[in-house]
Amino acid sequence: MRHIAIIGSGPAGYYTAEAAQKKWGEEVRVDIFDRLPVPFGLIRTGVAPDHQSIKGVSRRYEKTASGDNVRFVGNVCVGSDVAIGELQQLYDAVVLATGAPNDRVLGFEGEDLANVFGSAAFVGWYNGHPQFARLDPDLSGRHAVVIGMGNVALDVARILSKTQGEFAGSDIVLHALDALEESNLETITILGRRGPHQIMMTPKELGELMQLERASPHVDPEVLPPLEDDALLEPGLRKSVTLLRDFAAIPQSIHGEKSIAIDFAFFASPVRLLGDDGKVTAVEVERTEVKAGRAVGTGEFTRLPADLVVTCIGYRTSPIEGVPYDERAGKFANDEGRILPGLYCVGWARRGPSGTIGTNRPDGFAIVDLIDDDIGSGNRKRGREGFDELARDRGLDIVTFRDWQEIEKAEIAAARDGSPREKFVDVESMIAARGG
Ligand code: NAP
Repeated sequence: MRHIAIIGSGPAGYYTAEAAQKKWGEEVRVDIFDRLPVPFGLIRTGVAPDHQSIKGVSRRYEKTASGDNVRFVGNVCVGSDVAIGELQQLYDAVVLATGAPNDRVLGFEGEDLANVFGSAAFVGWYNGHPQFARLDPDLSGRHAVVIGMGNVALDVARILSKTQGEFAGSDIVLHALDALEESNLETITILGRRGPHQIMMTPKELGELMQLERASPHVDPEVLPPLEDDALLEPGLRKSVTLLRDFAAIPQSIHGEKSIAIDFAFFASPVRLLGDDGKVTAVEVERTEVKAGRAVGTGEFTRLPADLVVTCIGYRTSPIEGVPYDERAGKFANDEGRILPGLYCVGWARRGPSGTIGTNRPDGFAIVDLIDDDIGSGNRKRGREGFDELARDRGLDIVTFRDWQEIEKAEIAAARDGSPREKFVDVESMIAARGG
């Protein structure tokens, strides 16, 4: 028998469990730990609430969870409730699937001003992550600046633009829906330090900006490279750039019908945030040129008004005491997923925050192959029986998958009209909802 502990119940965690099930069948016991009482990580609190079809992938994880050989161990924080070293003594392999939940920082003046948020916090707020549910962003100003040109920046700009009606069918949490309803935003500037050919946005997500009821995307035709240069781009990026060209061709009459402008500002590198009375009022940017793919400052500076700033510039994995960490890359130091004997990482914790949800599936299967090579048929460790003893001794209040199903039932029962669920946004309510 092999005993595997997976830390983190997001896509990387569940795909690894699925791979373990497929490889070893009844000859494995997998425990998936999560610090929250609810599973699925990024699917629940990262994927945009109006992207329900992407969230639907959790049905696949439920299938994995329904096998006897995989169990969810929620409400247990590895690092404080139980140390990694203790898990290593109990399990043949410990796999860190903890994602990259912390925002990268810009590291310049003004980042600590009020109404400046990283995307982990801001997305967590509208998705009801207990850590960020009380963020309370002030949306009463007219200008928002979203820094970064990836899909997270698009999510944030789109969510800030939508009307209450456009959230029908989504599971955006009520506190965010109410706050957005009161929003006075007129411009949302998406700020990129490089040019149209260097965006990280994908076509489907960009195309959604054309469908918005009260907002339209603005691109200055002057900043677009010559059309023939698009031929050199890989097909996905070429499609995205074609959409930017479509945005640039939107007639003024259409823009005039919309109350919110989503402005693409290219070749603009943020250098500091300015404030008044402790609150952000503007972003100072330096004009850039792209040389050999890199943004190079021109020495020309301008200021953009900003009542709200959301930085969408990537994420970092949380370090864990005793686990080697690559500071520069913001992830665990690893060789193809191996960190130390018996200790592995997978998903964003292994490779950094890139790729789609599906990218984590081959990752999970690859790590299970490595573990198979390393541990053979297991090291006769105590596995879940040993952990249960430790949990009893420590009085840990474990939330099981069955408990989660009760929590989910309560969320579904509380759903407002047209919404799949009303999420609990604090740990106490989640735990109370699991019943007796
Ligand atoms: P991302 O795709 O890596 O984009 C990060 C953006 O931040 C880039 O445009 C980058 O510009 C910019 N940036 C980084 N440092 C900066 C700085 N100091 N100043 C100005 N700009 C800076 O990351 P992401 O948007 O966080 O997305 C993470 C992953 O999740 C991606 O793989 C993404 O596709 C995925 N995702 C997918 C979906 C979806 O499919 N619907 C939704 C959300 C996220 P440079 O390129 O110049 O460095």
